[in-house]
Amino acid sequence: MAEQSAYRIFDVRHAGRQILSPHMARITLAGEDVAAMATFAPDQRIKLFFPRADGTLPAIPNRPDWYDIYRTVPPRERAPMRTYTIRYLRADRCEVDVDFVLHGDNGPASRWALNAQIGDRIQISAPNANYRGEVGGYEWQPPAGVRHILLLADETALPAAAGILEELAALDAPPRVDAFLEVPDEADRLDLPSWDGLDLRWLVREGRAGQVHAYGDRMTAAASQVELPRDVVSGSNAETLVEPDSDDLLWDRASSASGKFYAWVAGETGAVSRIRTALVKERGIDRRLANLMGYWKLGRERE
Ligand SMILES: Cc1cc2nc3c(=O)[nH]c(=O)nc-3n(C[C@H](O)[C@H](O)[C@H](O)COP(=O)(O)OP(=O)(O)OC[C@H]3O[C@@H](n4cnc5c(N)ncnc54)[C@H](O)[C@@H]3O)c2cc1C
Repeated sequence: MAEQSAYRIFDVRHAGRQILSPHMARITLAGEDVAAMATFAPDQRIKLFFPRADGTLPAIPNRPDWYDIYRTVPPRERAPMRTYTIRYLRADRCEVDVDFVLHGDNGPASRWALNAQIGDRIQISAPNANYRGEVGGYEWQPPAGVRHILLLADETALPAAAGILEELAALDAPPRVDAFLEVPDEADRLDLPSWDGLDLRWLVREGRAGQVHAYGDRMTAAASQVELPRDVVSGSNAETLVEPDSDDLLWDRASSASGKFYAWVAGETGAVSRIRTALVKERGIDRRLANLMGYWKLGRERE
């Protein structure tokens, strides 16, 4: 039964759009099923299924073996599947918000977000609220008592990073956070919470003077220069860095359940790889304290 699986398929329709910035739109997806959706962390990932280029709507069956069935369909005939983040879930109102980067009509997800009309249907694979076991699908798990957090995110990871900052801001004593958020231009900066101890820097790729920075260059420079606590240096882990295969996204999970420092880094895979080199190889931070996640890959489609 689908109710027994950690993830299930949700039928939803476009129920509203809010333009957050020139390159970001929040789309509200609604459907009766969403009453049974769950989210466990601000970086909770979900899969969205979009119409094919010929307009055929996704029709993934809501059953535990949906992925096996999906994989039996030749790639060109499948409904395109892409990974997104739950921004806000209002299960009581059967609504979920997803913030889409509008990067052009070169991918099915961005194209849909640019053109979709109220009532247009897609499907979602997301955590099942009726499932009793561990669901997973998120990496934000800061150790209890953490006092210093490093957050590096480009615009695809901005929905998760914004949720992380909102969660931290609600704490009685939020930790020190150094946040570096890279966006295409000045107008893509969003209103985010603030507190004493949050040092939030927007890194704009297209500067006012007309210079254009490559994806991740400004985040990499920040990783090289940001002040780090002395006791996060391990020194013994740099040799084990493995570059992802050309088709893979880099995905290093933090594995330490304790510690005063924690890093959450997500963005374009090549950029995250360079940030990893800066943090782990050059600065020697203990890899077990850092999540380093490629959210997309320049020049590649991503299922
Ligand atoms: C865990 C996780 C969570 C994510 N959450 C979000 C989210 O909440 N919001 C969000 O917008 N994205 C998010 N992403 C990233 C998103 O999955 C990718 O950007 C995806 O490639 C978009 O699919 P597409 O169909 O638009 O483009 P694709 O068909 O995958 O790619 C087509 C072309 O567009 C390029 N491209 C893809 N993304 C971008 C981009 N952002 N800027 C410039 N060029 C791009 C590709 O390199 C390729 O050349 C997340 C990814 C992961 C792994």
